[in-house]
Amino acid sequence: MPSLSVVDHEVFERYAGLSLPRHVSYPMPTWWRDVEPDEAAAIRTDAAGRTPARDLSLYLHLPFCEALCKFCACNRTILRKSAKDADARTTGYLSALEQEINWIASLEGAQRPVREIHWGGGTPTYLSCADIERIHTALTDAFNVADDVEISIEIDPRVTSLEQLKLLRRLGFSRVSLGVQDFDERVQKHIHRIQPYEMVAACVDDCRDLGFVSVNFDLIYGMPYQTLQTVTDMIDRTITLSPDRIAYYHYAQIPQKIATQRGMHHEQMPDSQSKLAMFLEAVERFTSAGYEFVGLDHFAKRDEMLVQAMRDGTINRNFQGMTTGADLDLIGLGSSSISQFVGFAYLQNIRDPAAYAERIHGNIDPALRGARLTTDDRLRQSVIHQLYCYAQVRPSRIEEQFDIRFEDYFADELARLQSLEADGLIEIENDGTITLTFPLGRVLMRNVAAVFDAYVHANAYRLGEQHAFSTSA
Ligand code: SF4
Repeated sequence: MPSLSVVDHEVFERYAGLSLPRHVSYPMPTWWRDVEPDEAAAIRTDAAGRTPARDLSLYLHLPFCEALCKFCACNRTILRKSAKDADARTTGYLSALEQEINWIASLEGAQRPVREIHWGGGTPTYLSCADIERIHTALTDAFNVADDVEISIEIDPRVTSLEQLKLLRRLGFSRVSLGVQDFDERVQKHIHRIQPYEMVAACVDDCRDLGFVSVNFDLIYGMPYQTLQTVTDMIDRTITLSPDRIAYYHYAQIPQKIATQRGMHHEQMPDSQSKLAMFLEAVERFTSAGYEFVGLDHFAKRDEMLVQAMRDGTINRNFQGMTTGADLDLIGLGSSSISQFVGFAYLQNIRDPAAYAERIHGNIDPALRGARLTTDDRLRQSVIHQLYCYAQVRPSRIEEQFDIRFEDYFADELARLQSLEADGLIEIENDGTITLTFPLGRVLMRNVAAVFDAYVHANAYRLGEQHAFSTSA
């Protein structure tokens, strides 16, 4: 096990206290700007017209949830099915989503093959079987979906029925991601998410029986009432259920943004040294159980596609976490969804589902914010991508992609890295390769990446809402 004793706690505390982004995009959305509908439409048209054309990955956002989990930082709308207007609101949203699907597909010329589809939320299985099938059919009718497309969906074991799982398999879904968070009863009660171990185990059994090729878990550590003992128990129970991938997220404590977090007992949160221990315990136990540690916070079985993608150099990091398909243009559909046109631009749809539906029904582009990437953005994006995905930056690879000399272009950054090297976060080889050390460099990966972030540097680490080792969003 990577022992706590190999971590210099003074160094760790000094770096862990900085407010830094997680780089699920570069630039981070904080630095995007508002876009008018005409400009958004122009970005989409320009992106679709680039040559060579990239294949597609589609993300669908289904924002509705039956009940609120207090910790949740997702873009979700709590809509009890018993509410008088629940049907009308769901129907209005889904009709807008269908309209957006058809409109975007027509912009795309419906020619570029779709390699991946992901349904996220919210709770996608909030929808009835009829609505799930309706949206799936709209997608497959509108787009050129490849025969070997990989379709994944986030499911909540508390609300997902066997009937829904059977339907998903029949429609070709092959990967499910279960929101587990924690198995501890006290923690579950505190976060308003009662989900006994037996319920999760039964859901996993159903998914395996139905032939889903991959079952993934989302876990969270660092929440109130979690201790090293409860988290170790969560890790061991997870290993017993043998998911194929595990996203092991750090709790995003942002009560200034998430009103429901204000009622949480943050005085009961583990301190940063305890959270470091929870991180190291996960690395030790999951890797001993046959998982590969991937990126900042993911684990995957060694024969899993994510690990294969890491070996092939096609692994990706985006708003969905660590994914495959780094060379695919990602099209976001639905409220708050983000489109990522590789090396070119980002667009994000309006967040509120009702406002989204109104814009779509009014034939107005739903994107509100975005960014066209400069050459400097693309260059830094590539460096940061290498760090998060491979724990290493090879200057020769950057120089192959861009017409620069790495040591000249990043002279300032290399000077700033010297103190991180002295503190043991990185090692720099003779050929200039920068490698994150383990465990200190891996756990403080964001601090190394931030050195290459021109926006963070220009704003002198003033992001102010995220603590490097206390948030996960
Ligand atoms: S954690 Fe999932 S189920 Fe809970 S409120 Fe957030 S999106 Fe909904």
